[in-house]
Amino acid sequence: MLDRNSAGNNEHLPDYIAKCLNADELLKLTRDVLSIESHRDAPGHETPVATYIRDVLRAEGIEADLKEVSDGRCNIIAVLPGTSGGGSLMFNGHTDTVPPGEMQHPFDPRVVGGKLFARGACDMKAGVAAQFYALIALKRAGVRLAGDLIFAGVVGEEDGTSIGSLDVIANGPAADMVVVAEPSDLEVIVAHKGFDYYRIEVEGIPTHSSCPSRGVSAVYKAAKIITAIEEKLVPLTDMRPHPLLGSASLNVSAVIGYARNEATTALRRAPGDKPPGAVVPDTCAIYLDRRRIPGETSEGIMADFEGLLDELRAADPKLDAKVYFTPGSVDLPSHPPLDTDPTHALVQECLRLAAREAGIMPEPKGVPFWSDAALFNAMAGKPAIVFGPGHIGVAHSNNEFVPVHELIKAARVNTALALSLLG
Ligand SMILES: [Zn+2]
Repeated sequence: MLDRNSAGNNEHLPDYIAKCLNADELLKLTRDVLSIESHRDAPGHETPVATYIRDVLRAEGIEADLKEVSDGRCNIIAVLPGTSGGGSLMFNGHTDTVPPGEMQHPFDPRVVGGKLFARGACDMKAGVAAQFYALIALKRAGVRLAGDLIFAGVVGEEDGTSIGSLDVIANGPAADMVVVAEPSDLEVIVAHKGFDYYRIEVEGIPTHSSCPSRGVSAVYKAAKIITAIEEKLVPLTDMRPHPLLGSASLNVSAVIGYARNEATTALRRAPGDKPPGAVVPDTCAIYLDRRRIPGETSEGIMADFEGLLDELRAADPKLDAKVYFTPGSVDLPSHPPLDTDPTHALVQECLRLAAREAGIMPEPKGVPFWSDAALFNAMAGKPAIVFGPGHIGVAHSNNEFVPVHELIKAARVNTALALSLLG
């Protein structure tokens, strides 16, 4: 049973709305959503859980429809239409999870010590339930909001494509403000880093390894480049730290060098196996992961890499290297940062209500992880925040859970936020 003390009380919301927020019912809905597998190996991927949510909302008389995004994978879009075309608010949450891994009872949600354990508990089906339950509470209370309140349960966040949110941005429904339910410990997140991938391809001249001076080793040239990256580009990432996020970062994530005419034999072997053939390597790729803070652009970062290579080439005419932007996925080549104005009413109201309902310090926060909120902010130009129950540190783990009291508090804040911004 639910601990009603830790679930807070209803004194802050108007009574006629508060009585429509039933903690036991929300917990049951959340367990139902968690019981439906929606990871990449599950039949139908996200569509069965989207269908369940649609049916729950329709039973309440709420407009709710599936929207196919790709190959049978569907977003669930629901709307409480506003009466006067005022500003609109979207609750957005991804309905996919990572696969169960080694988790025990991943789809048989259990409450132990006030924590609800299941795959997707904090990332982010509790957040999703706390969002769509706000629509249910407002509908049951007969509240007529001025602006539209939208719920978008989207596909494809965990696979890195974000195709669900990209479809919403491209095809609607549009909203003036967006709340994404990634686990934030009920803190209000206004900023996170973006990230991009690059690779530098280095060319050498192959020759017999008994007389390497006749050729050019792409691996030695790559080593020079890597040293220069560490000495000249990495310090640049510390130049202008963001107040909420600290410094940008640059990581050499892999280096792969070999002789092309040995590739078929040498690269198939595991390290420690037989040595590759007697050839000076003529190709080497350096893979780079660049986390960027608000204000930095992919183009500016590319220019830094090109400037460094120009400098190295001027000092070493035998250095032959080119840098390439390397898309993260076809659908989402670049992952922008989130940078919402902390003074915006969306932020200020969510802070005020989260402080009131959940006792957080009313300070906007930055987080290290990425979310779809950045897409609504950077691509659609809308203020977007991350606000949800649970802690990111247990997401994707075999110990994934969400504190039940945070689930309830999230639903209360979401309901109060919609009422405040759209009422
Ligand atoms: Zn997530």
